[in-house]
Amino acid sequence: MTRTLSGRTDHVVVVGAGLAGLSAALHLLGSGRRVTVVERDDLPGGRAGRLELNGYRIDTGPTVLTMPDLADEAFAAVGDSLHKRVDLIPLHPAYRASFADGSTLDVHTEGDAMAAEVERFAGAREAAGYRRLRVWLERLYRAQMRRFIDANFDSPLDLLTGDLARLAALGGFGRLDRRIGAFLRDERLQRVFSFQALYAGVPPARALAAYAVIAYMDTVAGVYFPRGGMHALPQAMADAAGDAGAELRFGEAVTRLERSGGRVTAVVTAKDRIRCDAVVLTPDLPVTYRLLGRAPRRPVRLRHSPSAVVLHAGTDRTWPQLAHHTISFGAAWRATFDELTRQGRLMSDPSLLITRPTASDPGLAPPGRHLHYILAPCPNTDIGPGVAAWGELGPRYRDELLGELERRGLDGIGSAVEDDSLVTPADWAGQGHAAGTPFSVSHTFLQTGPFRPRNLVRGTENAVLAGCGTTPGVGVPTALVSGKLAAARITGGARRPSARTEGAAR
Ligand SMILES: Cc1cc2nc3c(=O)[nH]c(=O)nc-3n(C[C@H](O)[C@H](O)[C@H](O)COP(=O)(O)OP(=O)(O)OC[C@H]3O[C@@H](n4cnc5c(N)ncnc54)[C@H](O)[C@@H]3O)c2cc1C
Repeated sequence: MTRTLSGRTDHVVVVGAGLAGLSAALHLLGSGRRVTVVERDDLPGGRAGRLELNGYRIDTGPTVLTMPDLADEAFAAVGDSLHKRVDLIPLHPAYRASFADGSTLDVHTEGDAMAAEVERFAGAREAAGYRRLRVWLERLYRAQMRRFIDANFDSPLDLLTGDLARLAALGGFGRLDRRIGAFLRDERLQRVFSFQALYAGVPPARALAAYAVIAYMDTVAGVYFPRGGMHALPQAMADAAGDAGAELRFGEAVTRLERSGGRVTAVVTAKDRIRCDAVVLTPDLPVTYRLLGRAPRRPVRLRHSPSAVVLHAGTDRTWPQLAHHTISFGAAWRATFDELTRQGRLMSDPSLLITRPTASDPGLAPPGRHLHYILAPCPNTDIGPGVAAWGELGPRYRDELLGELERRGLDGIGSAVEDDSLVTPADWAGQGHAAGTPFSVSHTFLQTGPFRPRNLVRGTENAVLAGCGTTPGVGVPTALVSGKLAAARITGGARRPSARTEGAAR
């Protein structure tokens, strides 16, 4: 049995209406709690935000939606359904990978289609390697999901289960790049199944092989796009929470928590003082620890993931070689990770994620226009250029990126841009994200599972943390799981009929 909060937990205030906060709210409502969600922005979504720019409807954060069942679980907690509220478009291909030697590979979710594509790209031996890799990824996912990802930890000893042995036997504690290399010899293919380590904030040469679970999610389980944009997901979650009885308060920043001994008794905003029995805190860790008035002591300072520059470009044309998601790899690989995580320099030969959401939903741009989202990983402000430097560096880097894309075959992209918005680490820092990165604390071994900042904090009896800084970690699926785990700390995972579901049963 994992620990749960003691005392009354009838009215829970959730701070933050990002994916973690909304997931917590839905799971708590499903267990019959009264829930108030307090969000500083005027919209739900947090990092999965929305920017309206001259008729373009821009997703500011995640673009790759995987594991939608985890979102559906949150809707199902209140008797609702993701699929009733959001039209999910499966992406085929999930990605297109484009390499410096001019070759391209479409990443298909379906096994036979992908094996055929790998054979076309690199021959029959690699296709056989891909089939073995796929089986391994499926086994790895099964060994990890329920026990290591969708699980609350009270101690590293909680790891000592049969699943740990299974994970070790699968090679989960080796290095990611070597493990992938055991299946695939073609260096380009190795990249396709290991670049995801960067989502976890760690180069493939240093990431645990267990993180290949992210490659499982986006190359095997499938990638989806909600019609109307990614922001349709948090908006639907907020609507479902409201319909299930939550009070949603937007445009109210929480400034402090009132305490009585070890308990938080009220959440305070500029407008109000909201009494509570328990609180779920989802802002970035430094904000959460400041609100709590204490941060847990750790032997070593937390390390943060690399950051990203994102260029949102509304254009009067597009390029047929771009799929919904295209990864444009530079020739450099190990050196790129070194620049991002050790040297603190911008990528000299960048690998870029280019998303063209209007490929699936033209309604996201004015008629005849197209939207391109260009994400360039960059060092965080702890090791790279600081917040002040980005004022001058940002526009220069924007032009460099457009120049590079032009060289890589997007002819005329510089002059095709009619409206744009550039987001740099200075902007992420301005939103309160530590080290100028929206990707939070990295997933090194010592910041993973029971070693990651825990969702319970010493000295406060009725507060639980959720969000990408705590367990299980960064990403849409994991943020959703963190909300569920936070709710389980309050309810014990048991479901009490909510006012709504009780009413429906009568
Ligand atoms: C550019 C970018 C690209 C990404 N791409 C992907 C991707 O393709 N696939 C993927 O799976 N993941 C991706 N991610 C990661 C994923 O989006 C995040 O890990 C996830 O959305 C984090 O959710 P969260 O609820 O933990 O945090 P948040 O979304 O930050 O939620 C926290 C909420 O708390 C609010 N808040 C903060 N302080 C206060 C306060 N004092 N009072 C009230 N409210 C407060 C914030 O406004 C925010 O709404 C991406 C992220 C970014 C930024």
